[in-house]
Amino acid sequence: MSDPRTHKAEAEFPWSALARSGPPKRPVAERVADFLEIYGLYDEATAQAQASRCIQCPEPTCVTGCPLGAHIPEWLALTAEGHFDEAATVLQSTGTLAELCERVCPADHLCEALCVINGHAQPVSVRAIEHFLNEYAFAHGTAALPPPPPNGYKVAIIGAGPGGLACADELARRGYAVTVFDSRKMPGGLLVYGTPAFRLEHAIVHRRIEQLEQRGVAFRMGADFAPDVLQAELLVRFDAVYLGFGLKKARTLDVPGADLKGVEQALPFLVQSDMDLPREAPVIDVTGQRVVVIGGGDMAIDCLRTAVRGHAKEVLGIYRRDEASMPCSRRELENAVEEGVRFEFQAAPVALLDDDSGAVRGLRLVRTTLGAPDADGRRPFAVAPGTEFELAADRVILALGFDPEPLPPTSPFNGPQLSAQGAMVVDDNQMTSLPGVFAGGDLVRGPSSALHSVRDARKAAAGIHAFLAAKR
Ligand code: SF4
Repeated sequence: MSDPRTHKAEAEFPWSALARSGPPKRPVAERVADFLEIYGLYDEATAQAQASRCIQCPEPTCVTGCPLGAHIPEWLALTAEGHFDEAATVLQSTGTLAELCERVCPADHLCEALCVINGHAQPVSVRAIEHFLNEYAFAHGTAALPPPPPNGYKVAIIGAGPGGLACADELARRGYAVTVFDSRKMPGGLLVYGTPAFRLEHAIVHRRIEQLEQRGVAFRMGADFAPDVLQAELLVRFDAVYLGFGLKKARTLDVPGADLKGVEQALPFLVQSDMDLPREAPVIDVTGQRVVVIGGGDMAIDCLRTAVRGHAKEVLGIYRRDEASMPCSRRELENAVEEGVRFEFQAAPVALLDDDSGAVRGLRLVRTTLGAPDADGRRPFAVAPGTEFELAADRVILALGFDPEPLPPTSPFNGPQLSAQGAMVVDDNQMTSLPGVFAGGDLVRGPSSALHSVRDARKAAAGIHAFLAAKR
């Protein structure tokens, strides 16, 4: 950067003359009063100008960084030229559930982190441009692909989460008659039952469900599966089956007091606090309370921001490493801080404290010290002796991630071979040991992100297509 020749070369690029600008964001006071999304859209001129910051790398590292291999430079170039219709068409026709994935994608760790402009200036605002294009597609009808002629084959999908919806989308585009089964009342899986509406409004998920229904996808919600349903029924009625439901076990805190009243797991807190979801259990009310959330991932940030919207008196995040080590999206971390969340870094709980009536009244913690990053870039931590301190809390929420949960022996979906760890074994096309039965997401890879579930589902849809084409 100190070489003047470099400065001269950089001056020729639009990104050096035009700073990155984020999409409009609702004021804090307004957004914490509801559960609606906080980001607005670029106007057309801004979308065009921001897209022009992309230099169209011949070997685009942004694409390498995208778990879904999105055609990023292609639709950025069309946007920079003002061809929004074409850009939106390319994005929607080459992406899978693009408007849903974009909203939950940690882009600042993926495509934007790998953008080559990084280090010279701020990266291209890939996610905000994608957001603009996705909404442009729905507003202008470019998202509504006509249904192809039916190809005569029927596929059952188990699980209406991101993987199941992605598989349905890919197969419906190829003319398959798809039926999606799920035991929940509403389709969407973790996109609805686990992602707060301020990050992904349920109406956006419903809009996609309606589009899938218009393409002929049938949803059977509230499904009650009989024992052996896979082999006794589904493989008889359908030509192929995709198992895309999630199984994972929330991690608990292994310290005294972890079972006190007022200690909650993250997922039930998110689901029961969401105003738009049918109530499946009593609401976890944090009004006027001091809420502490333990964890450093996106789910911890979601809980913190949900507690703010739930009228908590104080909201504090606890993380055992430093801020730079947090695995959460930087964007959502900044949003949480703007909304009044405070953090206590390099602090690890050693006990949750009882108020003598069996309810939590606080935490005892110790300070940690951090070592040099290991091969994966993670900094090991150690407890600093003699650093114990206490914090008051009326509610403690555990957002510690998930462990794999093997398929139980009584599952109606038993049959395919499982690994020693209980994961479903699949081939390169995501097909299990039972011909015609495909699987992906948590069942195969253990606890996984929505983006990885979508990637597996897309691969499985191609595998189902090849499998049934070979039978024709
Ligand atoms: Fe454009 Fe950045 Fe991707 Fe290069 S890495 S194609 S500059 S978005």
